[in-house]
Amino acid sequence: MTIEKEGFLYCLYCDICGEKADESFNEFMDAVNYKKREGWRSQKNEHEEWEDVCPECRGT
Ligand SMILES: [Zn+2]
Repeated sequence: MTIEKEGFLYCLYCDICGEKADESFNEFMDAVNYKKREGWRSQKNEHEEWEDVCPECRGT
């Protein structure tokens, strides 16, 4: 999944469109909770790697 640490904050990126989430997070779990709340989804790609998908990309 694409949750990257930038300085003291975790940032969440969509692996499809590259869009960054509106919020940054102090804790990794905050990013995970944000994904659940905002309708992001984790899915495996063809390389069996987890990728994060934003609500806009999820429907396509
Ligand atoms: Zn997206």
